[in-house]
Amino acid sequence: MPEIPDLVYIRNYLAGALTGRSITAVEVKQPVLVRNMLDSPIEELLPGRSFREVEQRGPFLRMGLSGEIDMVTNLMLAGRIQHQRKGEKPEGYMCVAWMLDDGSALRLCDEKKMAKLYVCRRADTGSIPRYGTQGVDILSPEFTKEKFLTLVAANARRQVRVMINDHTVLSAIGNAYADEVLFEARIHPKTFSGRLSREETGRLYEAIGTVMTWGTAMVEKAGRPIQVKVREHLKVRNRKGEPCPRCGTTIRREGVRGHDTFFCPSCQPPSRRLFIDWRTTGGTTAPPGEG
Ligand SMILES: [Zn+2]
Repeated sequence: MPEIPDLVYIRNYLAGALTGRSITAVEVKQPVLVRNMLDSPIEELLPGRSFREVEQRGPFLRMGLSGEIDMVTNLMLAGRIQHQRKGEKPEGYMCVAWMLDDGSALRLCDEKKMAKLYVCRRADTGSIPRYGTQGVDILSPEFTKEKFLTLVAANARRQVRVMINDHTVLSAIGNAYADEVLFEARIHPKTFSGRLSREETGRLYEAIGTVMTWGTAMVEKAGRPIQVKVREHLKVRNRKGEPCPRCGTTIRREGVRGHDTFFCPSCQPPSRRLFIDWRTTGGTTAPPGEG
């Protein structure tokens, strides 16, 4: 699933490539992806309209068209957007395509057919499922340390990995960057938010900004076409069995509420506060990982 660094890259590219261009034709090959909130088919409604702006909001990309119409994508697990310039060959499993006035084409591809394309009047964009219920935008000035402390307090009984991955709390950190953020902050993914010290909460807040800025720079630096997911810079995600880049300990994978999470057991030790303190209860052996 594309995450913020990928989406910022796609947004910047599309804003440059599409703004001012107009749609000449639309082809819908997989209607199952399309949520048309207007009263006519999009093949009839969209030609002749031009692109005004492209915005990213959490996992969504909003393409504003002339006449106060919005097209909003949620790429979900496997959706990709391709901008196919004249003479370039198409890639991926095309579900919806927009032909543009410069001979290029925008294509929404998804072999899993899980991606969504919402088409609606701008006034109705907020009613798109999950679009209006996104939490605080982690790239916005509203994401302050004070705000984050409030969110952590409100989610005290949840594991930190679950909390930062909840798009109604923070908009938005997916599975890959949630692991990277916790690695950067040196916090065990199963730590309960309410058990984080003030110092750890501060580290976690800083890590979100640092990791997103770093991820965005790495995706930008790779400079691939927008349909390509750039992941090779990630330090722990999908690196089970590989050495931690910081300390060399073997990276571990565990499930947290049905999601795989990758972490370094040395850099991110389980908090003592998660367990009974055996030294004060008369036990002689520390539990595993407590050495
Ligand atoms: Zn380590």
